[in-house]
Amino acid sequence: MSDAAERTRLAQSDNDIYLALKGEEARQRAGLELIPSENYAFPEVLTLLGSAFTNKYSEGYPGRRYYGGQDYTDRIETLARDRARALFRAEHANVQPLSGSPMNQAVYLGLLEPGDTILAMDLSHGGHLTHGAPVSHMGRLFNFVRYKTDPATGAIDFDGLRKVARETKPKLVVCGYSSYPRDYDYADFKRVADEAGALTMADVSHIGGLIAANVMRNPLDAGFDVMTTTTHKSLRGPRGGLILCKEAFAKRIDASVFPGLQGGPHMNQVAAAATTFRLAAMPSFHDYAKAVLANAKALAAALTARQARLVTSGTDNHLMVIDTVASFGLDGAKAQEALDRVGLTTNKQVIPDDPNPPMRPSGLRLGTPAATARGMGVNEMEEIAAIIVETLTSGGDAVAEARLANRTRTLTARFPVPGL
Ligand SMILES: *Cc1c(COP(=O)(O)O)cnc(C)c1O
Repeated sequence: MSDAAERTRLAQSDNDIYLALKGEEARQRAGLELIPSENYAFPEVLTLLGSAFTNKYSEGYPGRRYYGGQDYTDRIETLARDRARALFRAEHANVQPLSGSPMNQAVYLGLLEPGDTILAMDLSHGGHLTHGAPVSHMGRLFNFVRYKTDPATGAIDFDGLRKVARETKPKLVVCGYSSYPRDYDYADFKRVADEAGALTMADVSHIGGLIAANVMRNPLDAGFDVMTTTTHKSLRGPRGGLILCKEAFAKRIDASVFPGLQGGPHMNQVAAAATTFRLAAMPSFHDYAKAVLANAKALAAALTARQARLVTSGTDNHLMVIDTVASFGLDGAKAQEALDRVGLTTNKQVIPDDPNPPMRPSGLRLGTPAATARGMGVNEMEEIAAIIVETLTSGGDAVAEARLANRTRTLTARFPVPGL
């Protein structure tokens, strides 16, 4: 919403919400977003999310809808599906999941029966809530069994994975993570799954943009049956989910999303996703994705040089996890709060087999997609690492924190937020 007349109208009709919007915009401009799942949407995405497509009900799929008036919604959903298939080299695409969680639920419910066994990564080692957390509905509906990372290297333990697969005979093997800082060979998962007679699913929600830009491996190239990704993280699109699969599963996936799990798709979101897939195929997005990875390497190196201990000792992707207890004698919650006070937004994070509880975990998760979208490069990563470490070693001193907050503001003032 950039149009001045629209903003004046909002200020007059609901000033409380208008002031909150202004406050959030100011926070995003002045602060620095280092949460790896967050990003700044393309300006075109903001335009389409606030467009007339939000008014339209389109239950069904292009050419087979329950309501009339679908000329333009059919056009955008067909473009979104075709562009997604081309971008990810997929046989079939479903662009209707309302977000990442219903996207994964639709896959489980479409391909499996309640009670079936699903093999997924232990949550403290990097898995997501939707990979069977006991507090999630999917965790109650399916029998989730676990693989882990190797405590010595921090890398996925493929021998352990094969052993659990042989013992538990899963119907589905899930890979893809929210806090695992490494890449891996998807063929290793495929071999284990094939041996167990299981289907394969990669949830690349965090790295979808990096895969689209061909700077990280694509699980579909290794013959995976299903790949899921959010569209709002590294892809810089609208909040939403995307399911890509082999043609053999297309009917079951589509029926599982609608009418199985959802009603009307959000057509403003589908329009914005269609534009995102076009922008993500451009050379400028490839350059962006390369810079995300280069910045993550630079930030990890600069933190390590200042005595920070990183889980797996570094990163191959856009994110890293600092063991704040081992590095600075601070739990992740305290570290997150201190960094909030100097304008750096991060999130507390459990580390593998964390002895501490999730609300006071031992680590802190950082990522580079949003900073890179503002145009920051490796020099800025040096300064960010310095601010982080000086904050976490300042013992909460108010004068030191005020000085560090100034350094953050000086840095962010040079890099406007896209779309704001
Ligand atoms: C973010 C994420 C999701 C869920 O996305 P929401 O849009 O928050 O529901 C699913 N899987 C992984 C691995 C994620 O990182």
